[in-house]
Amino acid sequence: MSQVASTVAINLARKLHEAGIRNNAVLQAVSNTPRELFLDGALAHKAYENTALPIGQGQTISQPYIVARMTELLLQHNPSKVLEIGTGSGYQAAILAQLVPQLCTIERIKALQIQARQRLKRLDLHNVSFKYGDGWKGWQNKAPFDAIMVTAAAASVPEALLMQLSECGVLVIPVGEDSQQLLKITRHGNEYSSQIIEAVKFVPLINGELA
Ligand code: SAH
Repeated sequence: MSQVASTVAINLARKLHEAGIRNNAVLQAVSNTPRELFLDGALAHKAYENTALPIGQGQTISQPYIVARMTELLLQHNPSKVLEIGTGSGYQAAILAQLVPQLCTIERIKALQIQARQRLKRLDLHNVSFKYGDGWKGWQNKAPFDAIMVTAAAASVPEALLMQLSECGVLVIPVGEDSQQLLKITRHGNEYSSQIIEAVKFVPLINGELA
């Protein structure tokens, strides 16, 4: 990606550092990524605020802090192949694509998927495979993944995602309905350990029917 960091994006990265994000590569990716490109023109003036914003179809672009936090958790494991569930605007995918060699991303709303694909192409990010489908089932043909990040809240942990982790893989996922917790689940062969990271607020991960 040959993007020049803008002052507003650098300021956002600074705010994230103040909020506790310590991974410099993640902060650099935030500085280099024009978040306004992932929003409707009418909301572009809010692009560098540390808040979630609507992206149409009842969905939201996640709060930059949580994008950075989840990315930081995942990078601790040095993943080569990563799966993101819930492409949405494509912003989280754009951050990840700058930091990992290979990214796969799934979205169940076709219009969002098409738009996200165009945005990443425009940013010259070409290490991303897109799928229109139900992320609850993962992406069997591309498995195993060193890391999986779910950017919508699941009522329970989808079994397929646990199965598609590599032997030491990690799954970062918000779980719950009214009250949600961000979990980091690590695979150790046939065993899994789970750690609660923090309380979060995501749109729901839908199980089944495509939009
Ligand atoms: N990562 C996104 C966040 C988008 S919000 C971003 O950076 O903008 C969550 C997204 O998950 C929505 O676009 C929603 O349509 C999608 N989603 C919900 N359930 C899904 C499922 N089962 N499979 C794939 N995508 C899903």
